[in-house]
Parts: sequence; C-alpha cells; structure tokens
Amino acid sequence: MDDQTLDCLIIGGGPAGLTAAIYLARFHLDIMVVDGGKSRASWIPCSHNHAGFPDGISGKELLQRMRDQACKYGAKIETEFVTKLEKDAETGLFSATWGSGSATARTVLVATGVTNRRPPMDEELHDDALARGLVRYCPICDGYEVTDKRVGVVGSDHHGVAEALFIRSYTADVTLIAPDKSLRLSAEDQGKLKDAGIECVDGPAQAVAITGNCIVVDTAEGHYSFDSIYPALGSDTHTQLAEMVGADLANDSCVKVDSHQRTSVAGLYAAGDVVIGLDQISHAMGEGGVAATTIRNDLGAQRKLWREATGELLDAENGS
Ligand SMILES: Cc1cc2nc3c(=O)[nH]c(=O)nc-3n(C[C@H](O)[C@H](O)[C@H](O)COP(=O)(O)OP(=O)(O)OC[C@H]3O[C@@H](n4cnc5c(N)ncnc54)[C@H](O)[C@@H]3O)c2cc1C
Repeated sequence: MDDQTLDCLIIGGGPAGLTAAIYLARFHLDIMVVDGGKSRASWIPCSHNHAGFPDGISGKELLQRMRDQACKYGAKIETEFVTKLEKDAETGLFSATWGSGSATARTVLVATGVTNRRPPMDEELHDDALARGLVRYCPICDGYEVTDKRVGVVGSDHHGVAEALFIRSYTADVTLIAPDKSLRLSAEDQGKLKDAGIECVDGPAQAVAITGNCIVVDTAEGHYSFDSIYPALGSDTHTQLAEMVGADLANDSCVKVDSHQRTSVAGLYAAGDVVIGLDQISHAMGEGGVAATTIRNDLGAQRKLWREATGELLDAENGS
C-alpha cells in the first residue's frame, strides 16, 4: 500500500460525515471528506431542537462550525460529487472518483443522506418560503414553531395522513391536501382524520404565492392560506454508491448496517439519514461517532496504529 492510501474516505459532509471526520482526524488517521454540498442541514433556517443551542442555530452555521473543527485536526474536505465507487477484490481497497480527482482508501464511510421530494411550486418561491418557515419539512424538528397556527400538509396516502395526525398535537387547525389528484384514503384513515378534526382537500394543488406572513395554496377546491405547509411526499435515499460495491439495502431502501454502522461489505460503513433511523441531526451525529470508532478499531485490528516515539521522548529516555 502506498502512502497516498487514505485510512478512510468519507462521502458526504453533513452532520454524520463531519462528526465522523472530527473523530477520525482526532484518532490521528489520514482521512478525506468529499461532499456534494447539498446537506439537508443547510436548508435549516434556524434549528431550535438541537441540544446545546438554546437560542437556535442555522444549519449553515452548524455545518461551518463542524467543518472548521474537522479541518483543525487535519481533515481534508473537497466540495465534489463522487460518481463512482469500486472495491478491489484482491487488495480490499476502495477507489472513488469524482469530477476533478480520485482517491484510494482502506475504508469508506457513506454519509450521503436523503433528498426530500418537493411540493409542486416554483423553485424560487420554494426557497424563499423555506427560509421564512412557510414551507417546513420536519415536524419532529419544528412542529413546536407551528403551535396553534394554520397548517397545510401536502400529501396523500398513509404517509400524508400520519404526518397530519402528528401535527395535530401542535395545532387544532390542520388541513390535508392532495398534491396531484383527489385524496384516496382508506376508511380507517378517513375515520382517524375525522376524529382529529382534520379537513381534507382534493388536488391538484400548487403553492402559488406568499402574502404577508402566509403561503397561498391553489387547490381543486379553491385558495387556501396557511402559516406553514409541510410537504409529506417522501424522500429519495442516496444509496447508489453503497450499491455500486454491493452493499445490502434494508426493505425501505436505506443502507443496511449493524449496530456498529458496518454494512454488508467489509470496510464499508454508513451513517446518518442514508441509514434507517430517526432522520435528525442528533441521530446522524451519534451514528457518525459510532461509525468512526468502529472504523478506528477495525483498522487497528488489521495493523498497529501505534504512534512513533517523538524526538523529545527519545531524548528523555536517553537522559539527554
Ligand atoms: C428543512 C429541514 C429542516 C430540518 N430541521 C432539523 C432540525 O431542526 N433538527 C434536526 O435535528 N434535524 C433537522 N432536519 C434534518 C437534518 O437536516 C438531517 O437529519 C441531517 O442533515 C442528516 O445528516 P446527514 O449527514 O445524514 O445527511 P445530510 O446532512 O443530508 O448530508 C449528506 C451530504 O452528502 C452529500 N452527498 C450525497 N451524495 C454524494 C456523493 N455522491 N458525493 C459526495 N457527496 C454526496 C450531500 O451533498 C450532502 O452534503 C431538517 C431537515 C430539513 C430538510
């Protein structure tokens, strides 16, 4: 193995990947983060449920702090999108390729996250509404902020129903809106919505404008105005790189891992939203820490990670 071989290549620089980077760099390992720059955390205008920040923190600031912390201990971070991952059957080494470069690594941590599906609306309007809390994606994160407000949930089927019912514990004014066509719900779901006093509106629906502090949604049943809407349209999990080297997926299309974040492929680990679990910063960070420690210990089982004695120590031992 040449000196250029990384101990670990981390693909994805969100809370999971960056936490792992901080740990691994502080384990004195040679690592690199390659990040596409689209962390879901970067969408967060201000998180109020992340422990340790009583006045909240923006996702961008949190990510910058984590990047600074990782770099302080020697992590290298590239802003690039990895397009290919391979594993050499003979050496067991991984090679990854991206636009302007490539790397070889003994281990790889996949922390590539998920992307939420957006509701039907103009992109500029979406980004403005997201920044102002008029579009929200995560009731576990920010349901508290819509307490006693008018909330629309854009979604159909069981997923939309579950999200609307979850939000009902924050406010009595919840409307479930079908994104594309009429709502088609089971009798059981209809009963639950009726019991909770949740209004149901048929689509097609489109968020069309911001007026004052509200977002206006056009539906098949007329205009509706909300303090916030929650798209409940599911998400796409970025499992492609893990699949390229043969990692098993769990039923719901997330990367399958054991309790130490090991995938089914030796030397390949996964953490954060790309793995099944609570899609939250705290969970992603926790898994990043577990993955990093497992990687360190697995590498330590293959070769001694002992540090060379420094000149001062040798001098002290020689009594000079
Ligand atoms: C609007 C919104 C608000 C939220 N609010 C909160 C909150 O208040 N509290 C909370 O705990 N959670 C919140 N979340 C959830 C939180 O953002 C995620 O759970 C967290 O970011 C997951 O971290 P991660 O590292 O797994 O993935 P991500 O943060 O999504 O990072 C994954 C990274 O991998 C990169 N990547 C993907 N594929 C590749 C590739 N092939 N090559 C290189 N890089 C790649 C992406 O570009 C991205 O930068 C919110 C989410 C959203 C969308």
